[in-house]
Amino acid sequence: MASKHVCFIVGSQSPLQFWTDPSHPNGPLSAQSSITTSFIPQKASIAEAKFQGGWDLIQVLPHLQELKQIINSGLFTKAANSNPIWKPESDGNFRLRSAWNTVRSPNPKPPWVSSVWFAGHTPKFSITAWQALQDKLSTRDNLHFLGPNHDRSCLLCNSVSESVNHIFFNCSYSAWIWQVILRRISERRKQKKSLSDEENWIRSKFKKKGQTYTLVRTLLTASIYLLWQERNSRLFQKKKTHKRFLLSRIISATRSRILALKLEDEDSEENQRISNSFNLPLFSKATDPKFCHWEPLAAYEIKLNPDASLASDTASIGGLLRDHLDWRPSPRPQGYNPISLLC
Ligand SMILES: [Zn+2]
Repeated sequence: MASKHVCFIVGSQSPLQFWTDPSHPNGPLSAQSSITTSFIPQKASIAEAKFQGGWDLIQVLPHLQELKQIINSGLFTKAANSNPIWKPESDGNFRLRSAWNTVRSPNPKPPWVSSVWFAGHTPKFSITAWQALQDKLSTRDNLHFLGPNHDRSCLLCNSVSESVNHIFFNCSYSAWIWQVILRRISERRKQKKSLSDEENWIRSKFKKKGQTYTLVRTLLTASIYLLWQERNSRLFQKKKTHKRFLLSRIISATRSRILALKLEDEDSEENQRISNSFNLPLFSKATDPKFCHWEPLAAYEIKLNPDASLASDTASIGGLLRDHLDWRPSPRPQGYNPISLLC
């Protein structure tokens, strides 16, 4: 299967035999009755055929189209030996990734992929979310093959039939948790009806990559993972967690992840508000600083910029002090861009 993706750079001292080398997809040329020519000796190497005899036979025997095609498909150089080339890679080096791509038949990516497999995702969260969005979790409605007497009631609320769309997030237990999270994201709306609706809302509202992009996706996948863990804990260990504690776990796990990633984001009002509601710092991007003219102060005077923001007048943490010598005696918040010029 892989041989069709391998070819050789044939050098001037290559030992490969022109007629008997087995690398041709249809076998050695000597076994192909349609290809014959007396211009190339029976024991000639490919290098001899190429570098000594030249390729004049192409002009002499233009009817040997298959032979011409074989000759043209090779990568012939003046290298001394023959080197194998892995054709799927531009540099000719073999890699498992390209080998896998040559044997698989990729399906088109579903739109929700970017909400689950994003840069900085937590693998265990994403795997459970990936299963949930495809309705592949072993919810009780998916275990109908266990028979008509199989208990289908939701383990979180003990009322209606358990399904993916009920657990995420229409169950009274999970709906309360998700509503609190939505309010912290500053989303005031009636809850959507299905998990895919929630995922679709997140994907269409938070498109610009940065801390908020990763934060809302981590909140979604962490909620799915920890709610599913809670459901399994009730089923297999008979242990229950109050919804307030589970909410606290979701937010704590998300904050830990975001703090570890130290992502930047635009210094916008919305990003500030969302970061503040989860008690996260906002590391602003320094790609668009607003430079102002610095008016030197009189000696022994100090100016204070209580905002220290680059792009808006929203209150931020810390400040920036300057005296008449342009010294900056105040400490800057760690991780913040040091430039904030005063008018
Ligand atoms: Zn329920």
